[in-house]
Amino acid sequence: MEKTLFQKICDREIPGTIVHEDDLCVCFHDINRGAPMHLLLVPRKPIPRIAEAAAEDQALLGHMLLTAPKIAREQGFAEDGFRLVINCGKNGGETVPHLHIHILGGRQMEWPPG
Ligand code: IMP
Repeated sequence: MEKTLFQKICDREIPGTIVHEDDLCVCFHDINRGAPMHLLLVPRKPIPRIAEAAAEDQALLGHMLLTAPKIAREQGFAEDGFRLVINCGKNGGETVPHLHIHILGGRQMEWPPG
């Protein structure tokens, strides 16, 4: 099966600014940042979107949720807070069909999101 865009970044087949990687996930800068800090945390496993995650992905998803704040701390923008976002499907605003957690920080966020 053809690799997804984010798999190619994880495998360094196309350029990306990677700030964290481990056995299960990779984190890199969003190419079109929506905040002073805007990272994408993606599983190496190409789950298309959160609605298609399965029970067998429970540990992976837990690992990603625990890893995101660690990365925010390591990158120096956790102290004033940050936002995690998962877009799912058309109405959710998903544009890349490989599950990813947006990690956004460095400015005051607003609510509700657009
Ligand atoms: P989504 O809209 O939640 O699916 O988020 C996809 C994100 O991927 C967007 O914020 C894009 O800016 C980002 N993106 C698309 N292509 C690339 C790339 O090649 N490198 C890094 N980020 C990308």
